[in-house]
Amino acid sequence: MDVVNRTGPIVVLGSANMDLVTRQPRLPEPGETMTGSDFSTGAGGKGLNQAVAARRAGAEVAFAGAVGDDGFGRELRAFLEGERIATDALRTSAAPTGIAQVSVLDGGENSIVIVAGANGEEELTDGDRALIASAAALVVQLERPLALVERALAAGRQAEALTVLTPAPVDAEAARLLPLVDILVPNESEALALSGASDVETAARRLSAEAGTVIVTRGSKGALIARGGDIVAAVAAREVEAVDTTGAGDTFVGVLVAWLTRGEPLEAAVEAATAAAAIAVTRPGAAPAMPTREEIDAALE
Ligand code: ADP
Repeated sequence: MDVVNRTGPIVVLGSANMDLVTRQPRLPEPGETMTGSDFSTGAGGKGLNQAVAARRAGAEVAFAGAVGDDGFGRELRAFLEGERIATDALRTSAAPTGIAQVSVLDGGENSIVIVAGANGEEELTDGDRALIASAAALVVQLERPLALVERALAAGRQAEALTVLTPAPVDAEAARLLPLVDILVPNESEALALSGASDVETAARRLSAEAGTVIVTRGSKGALIARGGDIVAAVAAREVEAVDTTGAGDTFVGVLVAWLTRGEPLEAAVEAATAAAAIAVTRPGAAPAMPTREEIDAALE
């Protein structure tokens, strides 16, 4: 099923992190203290990013997640509220807010350490269940525990919500979730790792024999769509000058689901997601780079 007949919000169950970004010449050696040249913080996590993408694209969005009882947690809550994303199912847990420590090296490469903290909460609460029962679509990724994601997908399936999974960070065990997934959106490397295939077409075919529809995103090469074990379409990316591709996949998924829950067909939703991700890669950052519905509509004209 990839047509949405239900009304209700998009529920994104996923991670919220505070990104702590330093710029530095190289990684310090063990025992070394080094001076960096820049520091910034920003709201991140795949769950939060996908929620922002869908909300900016005009959908009603609720975020089911967990933060700590600390300053970062309060900042993330305020950030989501500022985006007008519902936070009734954002829990305050005893663990600290999740963080991603990002070292941007002078060569342009990033090294990242993630500490899951509150994102490791495994329980699907009654509040989460009630929210999922009201949802038009449930959107999940793998930055929360697999057991939690599995319970959420089962609840989404029971509620007849559209279930959407981004299998990142990829985990071979996530293959067991596929029968609960209506739309699977891996990037190329995730599709290969999850399917065990050595080329992307075979991966897309194989995964679509188990999940409903598979959309493999391929960076500047666009996306492949497969269903029922067959490739059904290849969609070209838009030609743009990319400055920062962080969050391209999250923009794609959020906008895809926003379009689907407005009753648009899959092909139109993929086209909007492709246009939106192309806008996002021309701007720095993940969530801050995500376009509004007006910008996406203008790009589609
Ligand atoms: P992820 O960020 O999950 O690794 P991808 O890199 O596959 O995902 O990007 C997701 C989508 O974003 C692509 O299918 C494409 O539509 C768009 N995109 C990514 N990189 C570019 C680029 N350099 N130029 C244009 N579009 C891009």
